[in-house]
Amino acid sequence: MYSDLVNIVLPKIQAYWSQLLQVNQAIGNLTFARTCTSIWGNGVCAAVLPTETCGAITINPKYLAATQVCASSSTSGCNTLAGGPGVSGDIVIFTSAQAGASGAPCGPGSSTIAYASPCILSSNDRPVAGLLNFCPGVLTNLYGRLNGTTPQAPNSYNNLISVVVHEMTHILAYSSSLFAFYRDENGNPRTPRSSNGQPPQDSTGAYIASPNTTLITTTERGYTVQKIILPNVLARARAQFGCPTLNGVEIEHAGSSGTAGSHPTSRLWPFDYMAGALHTGASIDMNAVTLAHFQDSGWYQVNYDLAINSRFGYSAGCDFAMKPCLNTPAGTALAIPTDPNSFCNSTTGSIVCVNQRTASGVCGVFTGQTIPSLYRYFTPVYGSPTGDGMGGSDPLMDYCPFLSTAAYSSSTTGDCRFTMNSLNAQQSQALETPTWIHPLTSRGLLLSGHLSSQRNPVLGPRWI
Ligand SMILES: [Zn+2]
Repeated sequence: MYSDLVNIVLPKIQAYWSQLLQVNQAIGNLTFARTCTSIWGNGVCAAVLPTETCGAITINPKYLAATQVCASSSTSGCNTLAGGPGVSGDIVIFTSAQAGASGAPCGPGSSTIAYASPCILSSNDRPVAGLLNFCPGVLTNLYGRLNGTTPQAPNSYNNLISVVVHEMTHILAYSSSLFAFYRDENGNPRTPRSSNGQPPQDSTGAYIASPNTTLITTTERGYTVQKIILPNVLARARAQFGCPTLNGVEIEHAGSSGTAGSHPTSRLWPFDYMAGALHTGASIDMNAVTLAHFQDSGWYQVNYDLAINSRFGYSAGCDFAMKPCLNTPAGTALAIPTDPNSFCNSTTGSIVCVNQRTASGVCGVFTGQTIPSLYRYFTPVYGSPTGDGMGGSDPLMDYCPFLSTAAYSSSTTGDCRFTMNSLNAQQSQALETPTWIHPLTSRGLLLSGHLSSQRNPVLGPRWI
């Protein structure tokens, strides 16, 4: 299983990245400096770590650069630790499939598929090494469905591809730990450096990206949000929403510490490949807005021809981007979506085509939930005693109900791209045979017929 992932899946994705991105600063063979644990006053290294690691991975010495260590004084007891040949390339991704302890991302009971982080930066702060760890329990489940006979199999494969592309994006550029290291188009730091050459840090040691160039903190809809104000990210988001006054591109505020801060907010980008949760059965978008992070990092050029932009919220205006997803005008009891093609208020369970045009679906309104008061959009008119427990099911989406995929049986999804999800295979609504190459290129068509909706939550596993 793991070898298939490394030998088959990762090379496909490597080829994909080479089409999508060009690295601005080419470098020769990659080698990584050893970490000096103490330094003499003249900057000479006095001691190094016995082994270098990237996460839980021990880095093979062949990747390490030669390093002079002077143990006795800044000029005596000197010894040069041999370096390895390094590797030709722009980045090294160390992969593993390690479970974690209880409470850890891959720990028992966790639904996390994988996690990733950059671990070594180049001299211009571009990540040149990173860790990608798959959670073995969830991976086994996904892989079983890949090889199994269940109808979701092809889509599971797409999901697995998406997971890897998603996680690698965290390593390459899109991570809260990297925002403060972004460079402008001239190669200068967007966040001014402290005297130690690093960006400023908060009390927890986290690097703080500049509010003048990169990330602002503001209050909207009654809670604190962070917004990206990078030039290309913001320009493309304004175009996407048709909101020329948009003041920033919102980052996920909900979820665990691994989810909040390092993803586009699911409320506006539920189908983006960098959303913090996978909405199964839906198309997965490679939005130009998200890809613009690579450009605005200063480290890459982006081939925007490969972007697949979201229909969710397209041209829906500033209210969609900044106001609550449903609003109830004074004197009425009707919760009205800011964009009826994306958010919804219907409780009838009628089958519709989801906004992505790739799946049958319903308006995902559920009852009996525990919803924070901030996210209660419904009133008693909708049949709930108070309306308090009625709404969408995803906390990452502020409990906003949206047109989400629905199946006609428990063993299928509503995904139109796969014939096995058709009510009648002889009258297939699928447009083409499945392809496991991501990004997804097929677009389904509107389903007709009489499907009994199964209004189950459509959230898939979460990743971080
Ligand atoms: Zn993530």
